[in-house]
Amino acid sequence: MDKRKPEWTPPNAGKEFASSVVSGVSRTEPLARDLGKAKRTLNVDALEEGIRAENRTLLSRAITLVESNSAKHFEEAQELLKRLLPASGKSIRIGVTGVPGAGKSTFIESFGMLLISLGKKVAVLAIDPSSTISKGSILGDKTRMEQLSRNPKSFIRPSPSSGLLGGVARKTRESIVLCEAAGFDVILIETVGVGQSEITVRSMVDFFLLMQIAGAGDELQGIKKGIIELADLILVNKADQDNIHRAQLAVQEYNNALHYIRHATKSWQTKAISCSALLGDGISEIWQIVQQFCETTKASGSFEARRQQQTLQWFDTLIAENVLNRFYQNPKTKELLPQLKARVAVGETPVAYAVSQLLDS
Ligand code: GDP
Repeated sequence: MDKRKPEWTPPNAGKEFASSVVSGVSRTEPLARDLGKAKRTLNVDALEEGIRAENRTLLSRAITLVESNSAKHFEEAQELLKRLLPASGKSIRIGVTGVPGAGKSTFIESFGMLLISLGKKVAVLAIDPSSTISKGSILGDKTRMEQLSRNPKSFIRPSPSSGLLGGVARKTRESIVLCEAAGFDVILIETVGVGQSEITVRSMVDFFLLMQIAGAGDELQGIKKGIIELADLILVNKADQDNIHRAQLAVQEYNNALHYIRHATKSWQTKAISCSALLGDGISEIWQIVQQFCETTKASGSFEARRQQQTLQWFDTLIAENVLNRFYQNPKTKELLPQLKARVAVGETPVAYAVSQLLDS
């Protein structure tokens, strides 16, 4: 196969290629560069067109592009995102967290199918810190969300399986933009409650749902107060069969505790309710709560304010990441760092002095 050919050829490839050559060429640039540019434009054009046409295969390809670590793909991905950004932002972004076994995938299946029955399109993205640390995945190992994954109105994407949490988070944020441009109305971001992952997900969603299971009346001991402060809704799952009473007690306990805890979202009162993801009990009530949340927070302005603040926070994070990257990639740093480290380690050079030497270099 001719390696220079783009991976995917749209039906009107000849026409598009011609027009992108025309639009992409500057007469003063060397020919090879022009051809490279034209090819790139074609690829990004095809992805853009595919996403706008709500084509899930091309959406998936675009996410792969965004997830790639290569510098060339980075440039293409950013071009694509720049074009699609105006078409994004119209979905409701919901984070779902809970320990493994809490019932997240059962819930997402049930909730997702309800939304589809109401005419919505549902995308599910995962952030799985276990996959970034051990390469083994807590979220991805099971056959999950069978009905939803077969439904043409849904799109399910497992967590990127490599990189640090920060990198994975960037990719997920960018995937959200792509999913929204592809017409998805509800984006569910799933994560397990490990390390920083809940805070990461909170920083990219509008509504955050914490999924719990009822234990033997000691719910609040096992759960960090900090996580409750992130939640817009606490969902006590598995309220069925002989577990109903325990689940109700747990709901009461959470609701009592919530009186003393700062709420996650301005103008919204976080509360706890129970459900059975398995039987579908309480699932439509959850959607009603999400809708109420949107109405209330849009009316008060806190919905838009949070989105803005999230974007600015993302901006700051990326600046910090990029500055660090550039610093470590700098040849002078590469040369000096090991020498200075060795001297600092044996107490020959003061740490602050070594740092200033590095930065000044
Ligand atoms: P996840 O690890 O949080 O995604 O949890 P799963 O959705 O895989 O569920 C873990 C186990 O709990 C599975 O065996 C489910 O069938 C079961 N489960 C999930 N939701 C419910 C529920 O509402 N009631 C009961 N009885 N079992 C449930």
